[in-house]
Amino acid sequence: MIRRYINTIKSKLGAFKIFILEHYLQSLPTVEFQTRFTDERSCLAHLENFKWGNGYNCSRCGNTNYCSGGREFSRQCIKCHHIDSPTSGTLFHDVRFPLLKAFYIVFDLSPYREGIKTSTGLSLKLGLRQKTCWLFMRKVKREMIKNGMSRYSSKMRGKIP
Ligand SMILES: [Zn+2]
Repeated sequence: MIRRYINTIKSKLGAFKIFILEHYLQSLPTVEFQTRFTDERSCLAHLENFKWGNGYNCSRCGNTNYCSGGREFSRQCIKCHHIDSPTSGTLFHDVRFPLLKAFYIVFDLSPYREGIKTSTGLSLKLGLRQKTCWLFMRKVKREMIKNGMSRYSSKMRGKIP
């Protein structure tokens, strides 16, 4: 019972964190986005800071001590040996194309400014397959709606295939 309650809180917190990250990327001015994110490392460093900037917490056991997880930016819990990557628990988990392009798609889907906003357009701009863009866009839009960007939800919902 308590465990289920804790898990519910954890998943709500996770969803909220995704929202914060998404909102941050979408509200950046274009010039700032382009200066801040230039390659894979800058995106990973941002995610690392986003996840653990206020201190590390093992996602499995809650322990606060870690060592390097082998790969750059990943962390390993010294108690349960769970390895956590900066992308896990975010929109960018399991994304199989360059992170910078995924960041760009989230940025482009901002409801605050004009953008390309179509999978065909983004695929041409980023050199990705149209279906890859479409699938990732769907994931981002679903998160946007789930996280109650209600002002935009009705507008966005119509656009989800
Ligand atoms: Zn642990």
